[in-house]
Amino acid sequence: MIQYLIIMLDDTSRSFCHYPDYKGPRNLIPLSTLRAGIVYAMKENLSLQFLYPDYQLPKEYIKAINKIDHIDIAANHDADVVICDSIPPADAMVDKTLVFRFTVDALASSIDSLCELLRTALKVNVIITDMAPVSESSFLLYKNSLRKIADAVTELIISGKIPQLNILTDRINLTAMNNCNAGWHCVTLAPDGCFYPCPAFYFKRIYSIGNLKDGVKAPNAQLFTLPYAPICRKCDAFQCKRCVWKNYIETGEVNIPSHEQCVISHLERNASVQIIKSINSRGFTWDVLPINETSYLDPISLLDVC
Ligand code: SF4
Ligand code: SF4
Repeated sequence: MIQYLIIMLDDTSRSFCHYPDYKGPRNLIPLSTLRAGIVYAMKENLSLQFLYPDYQLPKEYIKAINKIDHIDIAANHDADVVICDSIPPADAMVDKTLVFRFTVDALASSIDSLCELLRTALKVNVIITDMAPVSESSFLLYKNSLRKIADAVTELIISGKIPQLNILTDRINLTAMNNCNAGWHCVTLAPDGCFYPCPAFYFKRIYSIGNLKDGVKAPNAQLFTLPYAPICRKCDAFQCKRCVWKNYIETGEVNIPSHEQCVISHLERNASVQIIKSINSRGFTWDVLPINETSYLDPISLLDVC
């Protein structure tokens, strides 16, 4: 059942996730489409999130948006969710939710400043943008980066500050899958007036799942759900985004993940295990559920194959 509606205000709305920023011309959503999208969200009781471009919107757009409770996602320090192009000073980001879109290499060279931010930010979300294809050396680099960040997170927790970093602390705090759920719990309204599972599908003009007149009508909608994802439903990398767009691009099926996505999520899962073990080994107790260690990095090995 859909719970969230993202409204892309322009084709150049900034990416908050795995898909790249659109580099083409501006294409502002028509004001009538924006208003109809807001009414649709109200009728369907959906939580609204607006995805902003880098330029100032006309006043009548701001007026329409501010009539309803919503979350702003933008590359602007006043937004509720701030998409960061570079690492800002930690004291400028007190109690903010931040998104960093990093390549594996860029993350490796940003570890110290990222860890500094964990002291002040409300939540830091790291999105790896070059998830596929990923070489073995990139997996190793990511693993080493996670280990260093995990050490910093451990020290913070021991000092009394519990940071929130999606790739490490989400798995520790979750007891069930908490994926992106695009096309299932969340849909996007694009400037063309059509619904898509997420902005990435709009840019490729694939998988339109309805429009404002007819509502959300996804063919084979069940394929976006966890019960119809045969590998993911047996997995316990609860923090994994289970990115249906990456799935579609890499495997041709929205419900079948790529090897790379699974390995990356399990490297994160293993680093979460490391944090809990380090804290326990130093005589501190942290009231969280233990996470079992696994012998695999790709849960396809959990499937019964004959
Ligand atoms: S790690 Fe792989 S199997 Fe597990 S939820 Fe993520 S994509 Fe699915
Ligand atoms: S499907 Fe979800 S995780 Fe993947 S790019 Fe779209 S919003 Fe991000």
